[in-house]
Amino acid sequence: MSTVFAGLTRRSLFKSSALGATALAAPHIMTRAAQAEVPMVATQPSAYKRFTLGAFEVTVLSDGHRVVEKPQGIFGTNVTETDVSSLLEENYLPVDKMQFTFAPTLINTGDDLVLFDTGNGEGGREGGVGQTLANLQASGYTPDQVSVVVLTHLHGDHINGLTEGGAPAYPNARYVTGQAEYDFWSSTDRVGTPAENNHKAVVGKVVPLVEKMTFIGDGGSVVPGVTGMAAFGHTPGHMIFGIQSNGHKVMLTADTANHYVLSLQRPDWEVAFDADKAAAAATRKTVFDMIAADRLAFIGYHMPFPSVGYIEKVGEGYRYIPETYQLDI
Ligand SMILES: [Zn+2]
Repeated sequence: MSTVFAGLTRRSLFKSSALGATALAAPHIMTRAAQAEVPMVATQPSAYKRFTLGAFEVTVLSDGHRVVEKPQGIFGTNVTETDVSSLLEENYLPVDKMQFTFAPTLINTGDDLVLFDTGNGEGGREGGVGQTLANLQASGYTPDQVSVVVLTHLHGDHINGLTEGGAPAYPNARYVTGQAEYDFWSSTDRVGTPAENNHKAVVGKVVPLVEKMTFIGDGGSVVPGVTGMAAFGHTPGHMIFGIQSNGHKVMLTADTANHYVLSLQRPDWEVAFDADKAAAAATRKTVFDMIAADRLAFIGYHMPFPSVGYIEKVGEGYRYIPETYQLDI
């Protein structure tokens, strides 16, 4: 290594790489060039993050990720595109595209295996998402062990994984979702409105499960230690969950914030995905003020995987602090 790079300035080093490895005459570099003909594998590794919370075991599962063009068309729709681009640049993020991640979460309470949201499902697999089922299995569980599926809200990226090959993906599970959420999306009043497409998805994926479904409101219990809280705005009945065992607590905030910079540093910026923009902004501030004040860890469905972090109040918003080893030791 040192003999190859000796005498190279940074500039000449990058110039050589731009011309390709063959521009350097050292024989072992030629060997490297030959190896480059091996095709790239390109698939992603199995991805999950596991930690203990009191007597519970928490496993955050990756559903995969997707790249979306033009962040300015989704976030900060009430400010200028320059404002959005500047904040992205300040945070070392590209301005022309962004990555979305999706993180369903499993909680093993000892008595129940609770899955929060189901990802994009088999229909998303060609696009690099829909990996929840595979990662659940890679993490050591089987789909038939899931006893409760909680739907934080009924958008496609949360409900499409309910089925696999046309059958329930978690065959032994009962289901829990917010009453207000179910009532809104299942109603035929949505036909002929901008909500019609998602209404159809709910009719296809969620309504057939109604016999096995429990509906909760603010303060509703899923299983002992798992409590729902109304966090309306993103959707009309969007719920978040407090998870508590032996005095240890984590919040599962679902889609209260959809991006770790754009939604958290600027909670008042409007987001195209939020049904009621003002209510969503007010909810963001209430929820993340509480999480910051209590110094709680939280799991955010669209936070950068593994989607667990902390929050610090800074200026008009919050700084996202990714969890590293705080929950592991
Ligand atoms: Zn979502």
